[in-house]
Amino acid sequence: MFRKPIFAANWKMNKGPSETEDFVKSFLSKAQNQSLASDVVIAPPFISLPKLSEVLNGNHGIEVAAQNCSQFDSGAYTGEISVMMLRELHVHYVIIGHSERRSLYGETDAIINAKLKKARETNLRPIFCIGETLEERESGRLESVLRTQITEGLKDLTEKDLAETVVAYEPVWAIGTGVTATSEQAQEAHAFVRSVIAELYGAEPAGKVRIQYGGSVKPGNAAELMACPDIDGALIGGASLDPQSFLDIIRNGSSAE
Ligand code: PEP
Repeated sequence: MFRKPIFAANWKMNKGPSETEDFVKSFLSKAQNQSLASDVVIAPPFISLPKLSEVLNGNHGIEVAAQNCSQFDSGAYTGEISVMMLRELHVHYVIIGHSERRSLYGETDAIINAKLKKARETNLRPIFCIGETLEERESGRLESVLRTQITEGLKDLTEKDLAETVVAYEPVWAIGTGVTATSEQAQEAHAFVRSVIAELYGAEPAGKVRIQYGGSVKPGNAAELMACPDIDGALIGGASLDPQSFLDIIRNGSSAE
């Protein structure tokens, strides 16, 4: 089944509005006249979202994403940002359940599930992150950890919600470490993730879901990873901060699909 690859830049706590503007101008000039055969998404810090939308001006085939959202609508939640606020800024995607949110900010599967549902209420497309730690993998718990994250995270989401959701498989031990999963390890995990989604929603909806790989993706390893049958793009941290490197990942990865 054809699934259009999707490459998303997760800038984490990097690039304020002026650096965001510089990046986009440089990226667009480097990409000029070369149509990108994949969906491209950029997730800057919240404060840079208006600048990103402004510079893209809806014209360049690049979608805007937030890195997080609140599971609540409004009220006394200091420091939080609601999905309605994101919609107002022309945001179309939101990363939910990144391992840094899980480990540093205590986000549980239940919180992530509440955020996924809240995002879907306003038609935001979630990039739903899952992945095991090294200890979980080495102690033989890879499949049970992924199964729980998927089952609890997607609880009560409809087939339509699933169709608008991108799953990002990101082994925690590969994030920001320079250590990438081998393409065999990644493909095996992706096939397993798809099989769990098929148990929940059926084979056809599962066959349509795009599953990104994340964890030290670089221009040099993108093609090999993207050539795997169940890998449909990448969520990229460090290597997405440089316009040339992000573009090379998209190009190398897209031609491998
Ligand atoms: C991430 O944070 O989602 C990520 C994949 O980071 P990196 O590419 O730097 O490993």
